[in-house]
Amino acid sequence: MHPVVAIDGPSGAGKGTVARAVARELGWRYVDTGAMYRAVAWEACRRGLALDERDEDRVAAVAADAEMELEHEHVAINGRDVTGAIRTPEMDDAAARVARLPRVRKALVARQQAYAAAGPVVMEGRDIGTVVFPGADVKIFLDATPAERAARRSSDPAHDLSRAGAIDVVADALAARDRLDRTRDASPLRKAEDATVVDTTSLQVASVVEHVLDIVRGRLEAG
Ligand code: C5P
Repeated sequence: MHPVVAIDGPSGAGKGTVARAVARELGWRYVDTGAMYRAVAWEACRRGLALDERDEDRVAAVAADAEMELEHEHVAINGRDVTGAIRTPEMDDAAARVARLPRVRKALVARQQAYAAAGPVVMEGRDIGTVVFPGADVKIFLDATPAERAARRSSDPAHDLSRAGAIDVVADALAARDRLDRTRDASPLRKAEDATVVDTTSLQVASVVEHVLDIVRGRLEAG
């Protein structure tokens, strides 16, 4: 297996921006596992599937078999570009719902593990350091205060919040989704015991990236 940097944490903690920059600096592949749950949720909705136990097998079949492209910020499923379509308030909710289904997770975890068989990766999500790669070389848990996370999400151009309304609506939706992610039975969001916590609330992106790169380089040099 190739080296893995696992970056976990709640929505809006800065995982995407930081993981992408760290991968670019290292010249490693970046994998956004949230985009995989979102793409599966989008395809399940397109097929009119229920996003709960009723259609778990069908949604899991999508997770296992769909052709997925994750290149930089571009996301496609079965040949359809869903880059923008998966980042709406509806898809925030739909992704968190399919992510509760153990068979869906099992299928996506297998695909995530296959990335590290192909080359070194920086992978971000909720369960990368706990479930996908419990033996990851470096585990980072990024966090920030709820207010800061909501403010970042509201100003993130990748997320279509045109219909989401005021920042307190975004904050409420974020809190509800975090609650779902932290309290589900299947691989809840939690910090791995050996993860390094980085609170990004009052830090600039560049200094978080430098801090993470220092940890990675130190670990790689130590062998
Ligand atoms: O990271 P992002 O907000 O795009 O993830 C969307 C949803 O996918 C999360 O709210 C979470 O429910 C789910 N997810 C997960 N495990 C991961 C990545 C994302 O359960 N590794």
